[in-house]
Amino acid sequence: MIRIKNLHKSYPIGKDSLHVLKGIDLHIKEGEFVSIMGSSGSGKSTLLNIVGLLDVHDEGDYYLNDQLIKDLNEKKAAILRNKFLGFVFQSFNLISYKSALENVALPLYYAGVGRKERQKIALEYLDKVGLKDWASHLPNELSGGQKQRVAIARALVTKPKVVLADEPTGALDSTTTDSVMDLLKDINDEGMTVFVITHEEEVAAQTKRIVRLKDGVIMSDTADASVAVKYQAG
Ligand code: ADP
Ligand code: MG
Repeated sequence: MIRIKNLHKSYPIGKDSLHVLKGIDLHIKEGEFVSIMGSSGSGKSTLLNIVGLLDVHDEGDYYLNDQLIKDLNEKKAAILRNKFLGFVFQSFNLISYKSALENVALPLYYAGVGRKERQKIALEYLDKVGLKDWASHLPNELSGGQKQRVAIARALVTKPKVVLADEPTGALDSTTTDSVMDLLKDINDEGMTVFVITHEEEVAAQTKRIVRLKDGVIMSDTADASVAVKYQAG
């Protein structure tokens, strides 16, 4: 589903540049539940943004669903994003003046789905995340965990192949964190590829594969013993 080879990314800082991703190799198969774990500043969001076609890499190859990602303009990137990817962010990114239902229905509006059908599908997804009764409520009437459930329903509504979540539990207490991770696990059990980034061990431990990133380099990968061996050997 996601295949990355020797990927590098630098950001320009004045006349210099900051080398953030230093040769990432990563292969995520369809149906995996993977976390990228690493401390703040290790390059997790940079990697997720590249995987999510929100940013571009400098060197190396990235294949999404066997398609080489190269020279994409914003329009082509948006088409691929809408077709393959759903996003969940730490800060939920819900539209404050729209109801839970309208927030979930929004990607369907952009996909050209008619109003009646949009509302029907959005309600199904709200039901799936346990919030059918909250459809008409505004985000500020919901708890943090409920907001993240709405955001997850919104990410799923276009039936993406992969859900990308950047610190999805970063703003939640530990009980709510567990329930959001349980929901992601349920979604994965139904066959969805789920890719979570986190700096919390407890969150990573709830996924099926943990990739550890440090200073832009993968230090270990529970699905690939050769990575750890390579770094132990120096
Ligand atoms: P993480 O998500 O693991 O905390 P990030 O990928 O957000 O790490 O950031 C990695 C490094 O890149 C940090 O030093 C950060 O300051 C820097 N960085 C991130 N985004 C940008 C940007 N758009 N421009 C310049 N530097 C950036
Ligand atoms: Mg980050």
